[in-house]
Amino acid sequence: MAKVVLENVYKIYPGDVTAVHDANLEIQDQEFVVLVGPSGCGKSTTLRMVAGLEDISKGSIYIDGKKVNDIPPKDRDIAMVFQNYALYPHMSVYNNMAFGLKLRKYPKAEIHKRVMEAAEILGITDYLERKPKALSGGQRQRVAVGRAIVRKPKAFLFDEPLSNLDAKMRVQMRAEISKLHNRLKSTMIYVTHDQIEAMTMGDRIVVMKDGWIQQVDTPLNIYNKPANQFVAGFIGSPPMNFFKGKIVREGNAVAFAEGRFTVALAGAVADKMAAHAGQAVTMGLRPEHIDERSARPDANPASVVQAQVEVVEMMGSEVYLYANTGQSNFTARVDSSCRKQIGDTVEVVFDMSKAHFFAEDDGRALL
Ligand code: ADP
Repeated sequence: MAKVVLENVYKIYPGDVTAVHDANLEIQDQEFVVLVGPSGCGKSTTLRMVAGLEDISKGSIYIDGKKVNDIPPKDRDIAMVFQNYALYPHMSVYNNMAFGLKLRKYPKAEIHKRVMEAAEILGITDYLERKPKALSGGQRQRVAVGRAIVRKPKAFLFDEPLSNLDAKMRVQMRAEISKLHNRLKSTMIYVTHDQIEAMTMGDRIVVMKDGWIQQVDTPLNIYNKPANQFVAGFIGSPPMNFFKGKIVREGNAVAFAEGRFTVALAGAVADKMAAHAGQAVTMGLRPEHIDERSARPDANPASVVQAQVEVVEMMGSEVYLYANTGQSNFTARVDSSCRKQIGDTVEVVFDMSKAHFFAEDDGRALL
């Protein structure tokens, strides 16, 4: 178990590619932290620097208070699980799990005890004599995790461990890794490009873009209070809708005008946005905060928007309406009783108490 600290960490690859810029991060003992962001944003590089598989160009990394910049991977007492499992094909499951301990000259009885314990935790006791090729993807990934568990490391590092699994198995393994974290109470750092994995697994999420950490917070805070437009658009599915427009003010009334529609702001949102009257801004609204007007008979007429339906996706429990205001596209998550068709006009209600606003120049959140 360990606290992991990154202090002003940079990774500059040959050719002057800065893959990680000034990363600062404090991961608490027993915490499950997920690094998430689009491909190429520097999350694997960050993880590999913690593991010792990449040199740190500038800055420091500490594990349990000890600076590890110059400590080789094998002496950092952490275990890494990779996307491609990296199992030895000619060895049985048992030997794949035992191998690292054998190399470290652990007594046979201790190795056996640890392998059997890990196999029990992961439900792979019946496959211990099999070779990896006789296992499914999910079972192979369990063996890879088992190989990490037997070492009882200070921290577990996961690099996209579920990417090679089919959708159903990914959901199952996601829950299993969360359960494992609960049981082992180890520090875990988990890299994924999948925002759903980040939301469902992390105690805290680190959102990265172009080598820069954008925001570090709990899943709910990231979802409800994104620091900028990038985070707002990256976390959430279907993604947040964005509307370009400006803030208008008449007397005490504050509104957002898109061009084709104008919606009133109220309460704290109006108070804050009044200061931006006349400015161009981007308004963000999540699909679940847009509903059909027919479902909201009491809606304030000043929050109603007309649009053309472009696509209707029946999800079973709800309907995703993809619509266009004449200027902006947006998605609404509405009740499954919705009977709108492509080409229909729809009146929707924007819940403006849930709206986000972002600056035109750098996308920072304005609320
Ligand atoms: P992610 O894990 O978020 O997909 P990476 O950490 O793998 O991103 O890569 C971050 C950036 O660093 C990318 O632009 C990638 O092309 C670059 N990069 C990764 N490894 C190397 C390398 N060995 N040499 C040069 N550039 C690299």
